[in-house]
Amino acid sequence: MNHRKTQIGVLAVQGAFAEHIAMLKRCQADAFEIRSLKDLQHPIDGLILPGGESTVQIKLLHELGLFNPLKSLLENGLPVYGTCAGLILLAEKIENDIQKSFALMDITVIRNAYGRQLGSFFVQGVFNQKEIPMPFIRAPLIHRAGNSVEILSTVNHDIVAAKQQNKLVTAFHPEVTLDSTVHHYFLRMVQQYKNNQTEKSIA
Ligand code: GLN
Repeated sequence: MNHRKTQIGVLAVQGAFAEHIAMLKRCQADAFEIRSLKDLQHPIDGLILPGGESTVQIKLLHELGLFNPLKSLLENGLPVYGTCAGLILLAEKIENDIQKSFALMDITVIRNAYGRQLGSFFVQGVFNQKEIPMPFIRAPLIHRAGNSVEILSTVNHDIVAAKQQNKLVTAFHPEVTLDSTVHHYFLRMVQQYKNNQTEKSIA
């Protein structure tokens, strides 16, 4: 067993990172902000890519020299949870944009897919068999998901939560609600990853 307290890094260059940190604290996990390269010296068991403006986030990740180091952590299996803009950052293909994402998850997304009128809305939806509140804020649409992508939630036939190996994404924002179901789900992924790391180190 790995007894060190779980440490979640939250990308904090732009967007709704404070809400994720508050939610993680409510879930009894330690969270720290990632603003520059030196923050990656901190022990890290999982990463959250928050909502915000994906174009700005990608630009800042490159300017701060964080893009490649974070990408290799994720390629090496670090669990990651991308919300909204964070989902866009993980998608292999962004249909209506030329920006370069991490491109690590076998999904195609359309940014701002719900148009101006329906830009933001709120529904009760089922995530992993549990009904939870789902706020959508200028959300992306998962237009296509590859065979190895597990669909965890749909709303009106649209995929709004999905998982592929170490990657979890939601098009909605659970961190602005009081419901911690999605964060607990992610923290279980992180715990499994920590357990596997420990097994490897004693094998
Ligand atoms: N519309 C934003 C984008 O394309 C995402 C919105 C959000 O993260 N709430 O980056």
